[in-house]
Amino acid sequence: MSKAQHTLSRITELDRLGDPRLFKEFAYCGGAWQAASSGDVIAVTNPADGAWIGNIPSLSPAESRAAIDAAHQAFAGWSARLPQERTAILQKWHRLISEAQEDLALIMTLEQGKPISECRGEIDYGLSFIEFFAEEAKRTDIMGVTSHLHNAELEVWLEPVGVAALITPWNFPNAMITRKAAAALAVGCPVIVHPSKETPFSALALAELAERAGFPAGVFNVITGEPAEIVGEWTKDTRVRALSFTGSTEIGRLLYTQCAPTIKRLSLELGGHAPFVVFADADMDKAVEEAIKAKFATSGQDCLGANRFYIEQPVYEEFCQKFAERTAALTLGRGLDDPDIGPLMNERAVAKQIEHTEDAMSQGAALLTGGRIHRLGPLYFEPTVLKDVPETAKIMREETFGPVAALTPFTTEEEVIRRANDTEYGLMAYVHTKDPYRIYRLSRALEFGMVGVNRTKVTGAPIPFGGMKQSGLGREGSRHGIEAFANIKYICRDWA
Ligand code: NAD
Repeated sequence: MSKAQHTLSRITELDRLGDPRLFKEFAYCGGAWQAASSGDVIAVTNPADGAWIGNIPSLSPAESRAAIDAAHQAFAGWSARLPQERTAILQKWHRLISEAQEDLALIMTLEQGKPISECRGEIDYGLSFIEFFAEEAKRTDIMGVTSHLHNAELEVWLEPVGVAALITPWNFPNAMITRKAAAALAVGCPVIVHPSKETPFSALALAELAERAGFPAGVFNVITGEPAEIVGEWTKDTRVRALSFTGSTEIGRLLYTQCAPTIKRLSLELGGHAPFVVFADADMDKAVEEAIKAKFATSGQDCLGANRFYIEQPVYEEFCQKFAERTAALTLGRGLDDPDIGPLMNERAVAKQIEHTEDAMSQGAALLTGGRIHRLGPLYFEPTVLKDVPETAKIMREETFGPVAALTPFTTEEEVIRRANDTEYGLMAYVHTKDPYRIYRLSRALEFGMVGVNRTKVTGAPIPFGGMKQSGLGREGSRHGIEAFANIKYICRDWA
């Protein structure tokens, strides 16, 4: 936090914005753009080269509470709107975001670092939730229940819970907001969004477009600052009735505790540690291609990212060789140049790649490719493949969240199921085999919220996204996505 303004000149890539008004250096609260009354700001830099992009206000706890006031005031009006009216505004927001896609992708690649084509893809993904929940708004039906009581008429209603706090990470700065916000807004909840301070400009651009789409003041708010201060106000306030968080399991656990005194509706999308299992009967070339996607999308910084690769013994050497060759051919570069892999988010992320690589090698793993910081700069880590990684290595136990792959052989189906499930995480698992009975068995046996069989791309607005065990609570997307923001009310009317 600093009052000092940067003396550096702003990066020139921002001049490419077709609509410069999408780049906002203010928080958005109660329908107004807001600086911190203290003048405190947080500088945001481009991970590609450390260049300064701009500043965001570092709002105080009192200013954070003001967002609850604004959203709470807006609740009655927003929830009383006809669903068709909420749909119309969500659809207009969708159209404006579509029209601004290139600008939004530019802002995203500058602050997040990922390849520009992945940024465009994320905006499409983000849009799909707005489209889906704009329709769902009209389908939160009242249900009649066949009565088990004499002279009674029974109904079940879905009602919006109230103010919803949405806390989102830096790896998907657009879609993690729309996946939560579209569901909450559709059902009638105003939202207070706290984006990661590393990627706030994507969120603020969404706020600018939300304002243009006609959301009433206080319905969509984006509050920037230090997370513990901002979110700490939200977790303790009884007016915040739901909290939806995407981020690390560590912070998820903290928020769970903080929300306990006020018993908030909680939805947690937390870390993953996906196993990628390849049986000897799999289509090997396809398995290698899907493994590349599962490991290196979002430069490896993806909660669905495969961390541990279990390969059946007869095809182990072949998989290792082909996967390492494909990995070595991946290109690194600035997101704007659209390489395969961009820079990592920060020094902490790079330090983790080094730690996991060195730890595995010290325990006997062999390095097939990569393993070092790339000459492009301190945040670029070479895509790395480690072979013969023992179960005791950190990379087999913890989320690496970067471009390092750990490969290990297995011999039986029972063994690989046990090893894959031996983790506190349970978000995503990948399996490659042609045996249909084995597909059924693994689909049942794997303790993960999502299982991809012979493919990597599995997500989208119609599916329930979420994890088991310490990967989270609740589901986002699909009709279940509404549940995080709705109360079920039961009415029993005597008609005699
Ligand atoms: P993080 O937990 O550090 O931060 C996530 C968000 O929490 C950010 O907005 C941050 O500002 C906020 N935050 C940080 N400290 C806080 C505090 N003390 N109180 C309140 N809020 C706080 O995670 P990250 O490093 O930004 O993101 C990477 C993690 O997110 C990985 O573990 C990844 O697996 C997970 N993730 C999960 C999903 C999913 O859907 N399951 C999707 C994307 C990322």
